[in-house]
This record gives sequence, C-alpha cells and structure tokens, in this order.
Amino acid sequence: MTGVLTVLGLGPGGPGTTTPEASAALETASDIVGYTTYTDRVSPRPSQRIHASDNRVEADRAHHALTLAAEGRSVAVVSSGDPGVFAMAAVVCEAIEAEPAAWGTVELRILPGVTAMLAAAARAGAPLGHDFCAINLSDNLKPAALVEKRLRLAAEADFAMALYNPRSKARPDGFDRALRVLREACDDDRPVIFARAVTRPDETLSVVPLPQATAEMADMQTVVIVGSSATRVVARPAGPLVYTPRAVPA
Ligand code: SAH
Repeated sequence: MTGVLTVLGLGPGGPGTTTPEASAALETASDIVGYTTYTDRVSPRPSQRIHASDNRVEADRAHHALTLAAEGRSVAVVSSGDPGVFAMAAVVCEAIEAEPAAWGTVELRILPGVTAMLAAAARAGAPLGHDFCAINLSDNLKPAALVEKRLRLAAEADFAMALYNPRSKARPDGFDRALRVLREACDDDRPVIFARAVTRPDETLSVVPLPQATAEMADMQTVVIVGSSATRVVARPAGPLVYTPRAVPA
C-alpha cells in the first residue's frame, strides 16, 4: 500500500497567508513532518501525528516522510513560504532520485506557497516589477565565494535582488561582506528594503539607500530586497513606495 506525500508551504507566517489548497492538504494529512518552528504553526487534530525535527536534518526528514508515505500514510511536509524556495521540495526530489525503487509508487504533490520575497515586495510596493533574482546568502550548502560571485554578477546584470537568510548567529560577518560587494557594484542611490517578520504581528519594514544599509539591520527573519538601477522610491505620507518600472528604455 502506498500513500501520498504532499510538500507544502505555509506562507510567510500571518493568518490568511496559507493558501486554501495547502490548508486543505494539512487537514487531510495523517502525519505532518517538518522543522519544529514550522510544525509549531500547525494546529493538529488529535488523530494527526506531528514529526518535528531540527532544521539541519533535512535529508533525514525527507527520508522519514517518504518512508511513512510508502507505508500508506498521507504525509504533509511543511516549509515556510513556498516549499520550492530554499526549502524541502528539492530535498524530497533529491531523496526520490537517490532511491527510485523505494519511492517509485509514492504519489508526490508539491503545493506552492507565498514566498517571503513576494510578501515583502507587496508590502513595499512593486520592487520586483522588472527582472529580478533570488539569492540565498547562507553558505551552509554552498561556498561563500560562490555567494559573493553571484551577488556581484547579479548586480552587474542590473537585477533587483531578493536576499534570503541574510544573517545568522553562525555567520555574523557574511552579510557585511555581501553589503561590501553590493556597494562596489552599485550606485549609492540604490534602495535596500529590510522586511522582517512580514505578515506576522511583529512585522517591520525599512527602506534605506545602500550606503546606509548595515548588517545589524538584518537577521534570520529578514528578507532583504535590493533594487535595480531603475528602482524608484516615491515619498508618501504612509511611507515610501518602492517600485521597479515594467519597462527599461532601449
Ligand atoms: N521557503 C521559504 C524560505 C526559507 S529560507 C520561503 O519561501 O519564504 C528562510 C528565510 O526566508 C529567512 O532567513 C528569511 O530571509 C526569509 N523569510 C521567511 N519568512 C519570512 C518573513 N515572514 N519575513 C521576512 N523574511 C522571511
């Protein structure tokens, strides 16, 4: 007997930011698997089993979820935001590729969610209105030199950028280095948006020009959006409106 494995995103955190599709999948799951911080956001029914684990054990978590599904259970793997953006969907795909015989018949569903950069961009205006890229600044899963190279080339290509995992206690200096790379590659009027805990009760948003951006403005609950050279900041009584026009002049 084989079951179903649903990989879903809970959205950025606030009530109402989980899609109805993801909520329905959570309702019907027999088992909910995820990093403790994310499973804590789920209110399980008495019959549902929660399997919470530490953030660093992603491969074990995927294996465990697939094992439960192969036993016939209906398993939901939860991430914050979207499950395909720096989260569990790719880890599950990797596990399936590694052991095709074991998991071949498990039904896999991946349900999208509202990723942090989209929630943050919507709060600020439309900074991702033209071409943009997303970069995970953590060097846990890739060399720090590659992070810097991607930042430099993205700035050179004049993308707006969404920077995930900007700063953690384990990497206090990484974001300082990232800001240095950006200052070398970008003009001084480049707007930087620090969006923290977006959609949650403690949400904060600040917009500063690149030279005024400091590493202390970000933590692991912050997504940072750096404008392109075309990004505009419009002063309004309620706070700045940041947007990148759809068109770049020829
Ligand atoms: N899958 C998630 C991203 C996981 S990586 C998603 O799609 O959003 C974790 C990083 O996401 C955090 O370090 C932070 O940069 C960002 N993040 C997640 N939720 C956030 C929120 N509510 N506000 C601001 N940034 C958030």
